[in-house]
Amino acid sequence: MCRGSFKYFLPLRIFFFNLSMVILLIIAAIYLGIYYRSNNLLLETVKQQADSYFELIVMTRLWNAQHAGVYVEKTGEVRSNPFLRKLGIEPDIRCQGGKVLTRRNPTAMTMELARIADRKHGLRFKITSLHLLNPANSPDTFELKALRSFQAGETEAWEIEREKGQEPLFRFMKPLYIEEPCLLCHGAAGYRIGDIRGGISVTIPFAKHDQELRTNQLLIFALSATTVGLLIGALFFMTRHLAVKLEGAQERLKQISITDDLTGLRNRRYILERLNEEFKRAKRSSRPLSLIMLDLDHFKRINDEYGHPFGDHVLVTVAERIKAHLRDYDLVGRFGGEEFLVISPEVTVQQSVELAERIRNMVKGKPIALNGIEVTMTISAGLASLSSQDADADALIARSDQALYRAKEQGRDRVVSL
Ligand code: GH3
Ligand code: MG
Ligand code: MG
Repeated sequence: MCRGSFKYFLPLRIFFFNLSMVILLIIAAIYLGIYYRSNNLLLETVKQQADSYFELIVMTRLWNAQHAGVYVEKTGEVRSNPFLRKLGIEPDIRCQGGKVLTRRNPTAMTMELARIADRKHGLRFKITSLHLLNPANSPDTFELKALRSFQAGETEAWEIEREKGQEPLFRFMKPLYIEEPCLLCHGAAGYRIGDIRGGISVTIPFAKHDQELRTNQLLIFALSATTVGLLIGALFFMTRHLAVKLEGAQERLKQISITDDLTGLRNRRYILERLNEEFKRAKRSSRPLSLIMLDLDHFKRINDEYGHPFGDHVLVTVAERIKAHLRDYDLVGRFGGEEFLVISPEVTVQQSVELAERIRNMVKGKPIALNGIEVTMTISAGLASLSSQDADADALIARSDQALYRAKEQGRDRVVSL
């Protein structure tokens, strides 16, 4: 009953598939949310890292600008900044002992710091502008786009650069605003405090983060697939269990609906349905069919004398005796109070009469006893066999009823055939 029972419950299957879809959608939505949230958090962390670098550089530059540049000793490696001369500023000063110091303005200092950061940490930052003094600082595609967006009012730009065959990079850029100390060098070019002078881009290698993103993606996919699998699996077994239970309940209900409570025989509705079917089948195939209507004689007296419960016991006992004498393909049902109907297919009238006689003899052959009361019951039988004139099963019932009436008339405890 367990196996295959699922297919009998289409609504349960629809329920199962619909609920599975809902679970799938909910889990997908939850995990997509987690996925985007964790990706964003990771990106936000890298962005904040880049921003911190940017702010540190800006702070260092400000310190430098507040001191109108700082002087460093001019050695073989350290050269004068030629762009200061273009701005009309002499970069070098000679000390008393003959040592030459050269001025490092914020931009030159930023470039030198950038070289150290690149060498030591693989981290790059670059100062660039739409109005360059030093062509070596000219903006690349990302920086150019970012600088233009700053002109349009944006305050920050970032992207992940993935170029074929190259390590992925996190690019970040913010504008550099003119502050008061900057005017010392840039004032002559017409800049005012608050103007955008250019920007500093920070570039962080992104391969490690990329790997983290992929691991995250894989983990979330595995987790969602496992959750969906477990939930749908549990739902499947629960639905299946429910289907089995329902099938059991349905089967019990079906049995109840076709069974007579008292005798356990088939009830009137069922036996009439079966009679209709057997009638059509017998008609179609021109096969014999007999109907025996059985009625206990003077049953009312039993009730009146010994009470209803004893009457019930008589009915149950008679039902058992009738059942015991039927062939496998005979059908018996309780037709009414103390009336029974036997459908006997594929038998001659003679065989049918013999069956009715056997039942009659069995009923009266042995007394029925309960709680010290003992009675011997007799039964009358009206028998009708299918004839070509019978238009429907009702005609057969009417003739067996008529035959039963005659049996009663003729003194009961007998079989009459019509
Ligand atoms: P006859 O020989 O003419 O058939 O007489 P009868 O007394 O058997 O027939 P009648 O139709 O007068 O009475 C049938 C009785 O069966 C009446 C009713 O109380 C009783 N009866 C019907 N159903 C049940 C039942 O479920 N239990 C019991 N105990 N009695 C029932
Ligand atoms: Mg009766
Ligand atoms: Mg009777």
